[in-house]
Amino acid sequence: MSTESVVYDVAVIGSGPGGYVAAIKASQLGLKVALIEKYAKVGGTCLHWGCIPTKALLLNAELYEKALHGKEFGILYKDINLDFRLVKARKDKIVKKLAMGTDFLMKKNKITTFSGKGTLTSPGTISVAGESPAEVRAKKIVIATGSEAKLLPGMELDGQCILTNKEILDLDSVPKSLLVVGAGAVGIEFASIFSRFGTDVTVVEMLPRILPVEDQEVSDELRKLLAKRRIKIITDARFENLTVQDGKVQATVSVAGGPAQTITTDKALIAVGRKPVTEGIGLERLGVATTKGFITVDEHMETSVPGVFAIGDIVPTQQLAHVASHEGILAMRHIAGESTEPLNYDLVPGCTYCSPEVASVGLRESAARERGYDVVTSKFPFAAIGKATILGENEGFVKLVCEKKYKQVLGMHMIGPHVTELVAEGTAIIGLEACAEDVSHLIHAHPTVSEGIMEAAHAIYGAAIHF
Ligand code: FAD
Repeated sequence: MSTESVVYDVAVIGSGPGGYVAAIKASQLGLKVALIEKYAKVGGTCLHWGCIPTKALLLNAELYEKALHGKEFGILYKDINLDFRLVKARKDKIVKKLAMGTDFLMKKNKITTFSGKGTLTSPGTISVAGESPAEVRAKKIVIATGSEAKLLPGMELDGQCILTNKEILDLDSVPKSLLVVGAGAVGIEFASIFSRFGTDVTVVEMLPRILPVEDQEVSDELRKLLAKRRIKIITDARFENLTVQDGKVQATVSVAGGPAQTITTDKALIAVGRKPVTEGIGLERLGVATTKGFITVDEHMETSVPGVFAIGDIVPTQQLAHVASHEGILAMRHIAGESTEPLNYDLVPGCTYCSPEVASVGLRESAARERGYDVVTSKFPFAAIGKATILGENEGFVKLVCEKKYKQVLGMHMIGPHVTELVAEGTAIIGLEACAEDVSHLIHAHPTVSEGIMEAAHAIYGAAIHF
């Protein structure tokens, strides 16, 4: 094992959107930085098995669905075929291109990268196991080892029929039928992708509703709209059994104490949440405090061991790429001696890129009430927005949650066309502490789907123009 003579200002373990962004920030701040990654390429879950490949497939699914409805737009095709090998090749090309871009950024920012599994051996030392074992010494350490798919007791992956987000991205053909276990963002996105490719999809969720982190009305609307797209949804479900027999998945599920039913499909996707990758990286040796596997951190992302920081999916905040990146930037600014404000986790936008899309920022109606606000809400349907009708996507709505006295906007919850882009406006509105009246006076271009936000602000005063 080679021991580096250099002592880095900071070493980062893990190169996902938490780790690689933190490393770039450190370099920009003039720190000498090392980045350790055990996978062959930088980029983490987000780039290789998460955000990017799924959204690439979602675009194929959307185009295929649009092509099937070509007649509605006066476009007539003789044959419409889906060549899944080309679909997969495009996704792989996008991932490869972005991985090369990330690699280039590491070089451009003079970040020294080490390939291999990093383990903390002391608060200032990481041993890297790999083809060229090394010992990396640094004044500060940032752990960004991310998360992996969680399994339920009794579930065993076989990589052929019972899959996680990793294996499903490697399928060579579209399965005839798919059981999706878990109706969070990951499960719903895959359900939406494959059902549009023609797969018969059943989603099973333990909780009473799908997308349980979203506002109740959005969950209810999405359930209705997915059912319209022939996705079967079973909530309040309890898994009795999940096995593979004769190459088919057999799931035994009971609903709210009722009789058990058996669901038979070609494939099953397990999407019941993500567990932090914190085992076997030396946390116990250093005495880094954890709760239920997540690393405990203060408002600067520093762990219970001074000089050791943790960011991203391994800390108990929203498991999202943009959260990981912002936590990484915050940690590095603090390490470089800058004064920082703690992150406001209420202001994190959340998106599910299914069809129709779902996006939200700020407080759900129920959360606002639990925090003691006197609440008023409004809802404006995309059915009354011209651009949505042009797009042929006029389902869904914009919902605003405001406090009653000044009508300050506390939450924005949307389901409909391009809402994952519109949510940036919600972040600005809530972050700048605007009231519904301010929003109603902002001139929104016509025809755009963003007019739905302005109309929802008018609707708080019962004065929507087009509804
Ligand atoms: P990760 O991205 O998980 O990266 C951790 C890295 O650390 C990995 O490269 C891993 O190999 C490496 N590593 C682990 N242990 C070690 C070790 N001991 N030594 C060296 N390296 C190590 N979020 C969004 O915001 N938008 C989305 O659209 C979205 N879509 C998603 C879709 C799916 C299917 C999934 C599964 C997730 C999605 N997410 C999305 C979540 C997002 O991917 C994660 O929140 C994000 O990747 C977390 O970043 P991270 O840096 O904490 O960890």
